Amino acid sequence: MKITGIDTFLMQVGARPTSEPGAKAAVYSDFRGGRNWLFIRILTDEGVYGVGEGSGWPRVVETAVKDYANLLIGEDPRDVDRLWYKLFNGSMGHGQLGTVGGGALSAIEMALWDIKGKVLGQPVWNLLGGAFRQKIPVYGHAKTPKQAHELMALGYKAVKVSFTGAVDVDKVAAVRDAVGPDVDVMVDAHGPSWMTPADAIQVARALEPLDLLFFEDPVAPENLDAFRRVRDATSVPLAAGERVATIWGLRPLIEEELVDVVQPDTGRAGGITQMRKMAAMAEAHWIMMAPHSGSLGPVAEYAALHLMATIPNALMLERLEMDWPGRGTVITPAPVVVDGHIALPTAPGLGVDIVPAEIAKYPSERNVLELPADDGWAFETGTRDEAPYAQMRLKRRLKLRGR
Ligand SMILES: [Mg+2]
Repeated sequence: MKITGIDTFLMQVGARPTSEPGAKAAVYSDFRGGRNWLFIRILTDEGVYGVGEGSGWPRVVETAVKDYANLLIGEDPRDVDRLWYKLFNGSMGHGQLGTVGGGALSAIEMALWDIKGKVLGQPVWNLLGGAFRQKIPVYGHAKTPKQAHELMALGYKAVKVSFTGAVDVDKVAAVRDAVGPDVDVMVDAHGPSWMTPADAIQVARALEPLDLLFFEDPVAPENLDAFRRVRDATSVPLAAGERVATIWGLRPLIEEELVDVVQPDTGRAGGITQMRKMAAMAEAHWIMMAPHSGSLGPVAEYAALHLMATIPNALMLERLEMDWPGRGTVITPAPVVVDGHIALPTAPGLGVDIVPAEIAKYPSERNVLELPADDGWAFETGTRDEAPYAQMRLKRRLKLRGR
């Protein structure tokens, strides 16, 4: 069995179908044109193909995948680990691969597992040691008590509040009050460069009475010194890891036990096996895993289901339930949340395929985010608020005053 080629399918998430009048520049307002999904198919001489997805700047990852194809054509796709290292070593000259390289490796490795499962007639989870669980718990995003209630109506048992722009502890308290004590609440600060350890510690302490499952990226996770200071100063469980790729990228957070939960992104962490190795490293330190979704598409979500079935320290899978309405149309079948869980796929391979005709309706136009001025992110040029440090410090003070 030999690999004969790789097809890539890049799309603009949130764009309206090109058949609609005036649709070319139109984007779904929530994404400001920043979100792309990259799917791939690895083709073989026996007609079997595997699907994968790569995140970590998908528009750039597409080029990396095409470059890697030179090393894959003619190879046996069933040698998943050997091929991973062939690609990894083949691109070593580019330096640390980061999440772009991790995205390309993830997409390819995912597709190789899909092929292997199809050839053997087994779901991928059954090739990875078998299932601990038949359904995977998921959590959703809620900006308001109303959204939290909508998720609870779908059976969600956990919701995450995001600090986009303003650091607003009252917003978290409102969601906590709305969901009651039996639903888990999390907070994501997105590891902003302007959040100092002193600021993050104040925020964490203000969050302590709200019984959080975790406080995610309270400071930039690249700044391990800052993370240590926050870690030592609060009792709130901490989470991080969505920005790194490979076991070597995640290693410092785990080895120093700076977090209670690691959150590798299934589309850019480096592949299913890399994430299983990360999970094992975390397990040795009694740390749980809750894979990141964020801007991730639905094929990587399938891969995460297989991964989460097979690791003992699976916490929950992040899910954007209130995402772009077309999410379920570009793949088949679309996963469904029942009682806060997604059932484990049982078909051979990953159990999902892409729908190229639907993907083609949303051609990629750009893949960088325009920060929304109306959501607390952007500030008027030339004002005091424009300074990246001052803008959030002032806002945080406002939102903490009175608590
Ligand atoms: Mg996050």
